[in-house]
Amino acid sequence: MKVLKNGRLIDGTGAAPVGATIVIRGNRIDAVTTRNESDFPAEAEIIDAAGMTILPGLIDCHDHMANHKYDLTHRWRIDEPQSTRHLRTASVLKQTLAAGYTTVRDAAGLDVGFKRAIEEGLIDGPRLVLSLSIISPIGGIGDAVSPSGLPLDDCCCIPGDPLLPDSVVNRSDDVRPVVRRMVRAGADVIKCATTGGASSRPGHGPRDGAFNLDEMQALVDEAQALDRRVMCHALGGRGLDIAIAAGVNSIEHGSYLNEDPRHLERMAERGIFFVPTLLVYEYHRKSPQPHVRERAQALTEAHAESIRRALAIGVKVVAGTDAGGHGHPANAGELECLVRAGMTPMQALQAATGWAAECLGQEAELGTVETGKLADLVVVAGDPLADIALLRDPHRIALVIKDGAVAANRLAR
Ligand SMILES: [Zn+2]
Repeated sequence: MKVLKNGRLIDGTGAAPVGATIVIRGNRIDAVTTRNESDFPAEAEIIDAAGMTILPGLIDCHDHMANHKYDLTHRWRIDEPQSTRHLRTASVLKQTLAAGYTTVRDAAGLDVGFKRAIEEGLIDGPRLVLSLSIISPIGGIGDAVSPSGLPLDDCCCIPGDPLLPDSVVNRSDDVRPVVRRMVRAGADVIKCATTGGASSRPGHGPRDGAFNLDEMQALVDEAQALDRRVMCHALGGRGLDIAIAAGVNSIEHGSYLNEDPRHLERMAERGIFFVPTLLVYEYHRKSPQPHVRERAQALTEAHAESIRRALAIGVKVVAGTDAGGHGHPANAGELECLVRAGMTPMQALQAATGWAAECLGQEAELGTVETGKLADLVVVAGDPLADIALLRDPHRIALVIKDGAVAANRLAR
């Protein structure tokens, strides 16, 4: 038994902070009480959280933990030995957990072996929700091609990643088999793309489409039949329309949702989550590639406006860093961006806790500090409602508890 006492609790539901004592038994929260109790069994480990804020373990709903750079040699996996790359990924997983992130949804790139290694205790890392690869048609963002537009293995003798299933839909009839293969390989969620993005190849930008409505409908139906949610990369234009019409569960990036009021209206009606990714575009706005820089600069205002309109109409906004290609900056930097875009600090915390757990379909177990839920907690020195940026500072992350066990502890020092 562990007892966290004297702390100030922000429970992830949006409720105002309260002084609270939290009792952890095994891997679950056994009790949350506002009484100042002192009567605990002698074997209880008492942790004094005076002056600290207790939060649910943080959740990042869009990350790429196994990606570390954007340059082609890295994307093609020829810049370093595979073993070095995997150990680099393991190191990032450990740092991310120590930063207070107890759950991460990987938006492609991380294979099932990392999840198994964490579950077996071989390495430290967050709970993982895996998508494995991005499903797109020929020419979509999941279709890796040379700068001349040719398949890599044809023109450069670079094979696909042997750890991840092929995610390119070559013909409309391939949609369902590709989804099934993704699930067979261990995907917890289906990631797809109906538009280009900021960093995609010239000619396939934020408003350029991929997939038609029939194909997307088949993808969503098949994913649902296999009890998987669908997270869809969609920035604007017709592809964004198609993703929402097909009934995906979350729109990733969604930069131009503000351009047609029907987008957010339908998302609110259908309970589709919005996962903006602001941090990555700060990086792309300084990209050496002109087409990437221009796209990222062009979408900045729209992206922030989309967030404000989403909140006003009742669409839940969830935090995702889209880290990986731009390195792995502190995940909580995204929360600072969300506040700058117009969210209150409390809303930004919900975006990384209670609402994020709902986006994953795991709200019964994760995301809020409530009796009976899994004991994933982070104890922070200071008040994140007064200064959301303190969550970025590793020295402020005093204690991380995942599944009832201490995952990182700076209190002792
Ligand atoms: Zn991404």
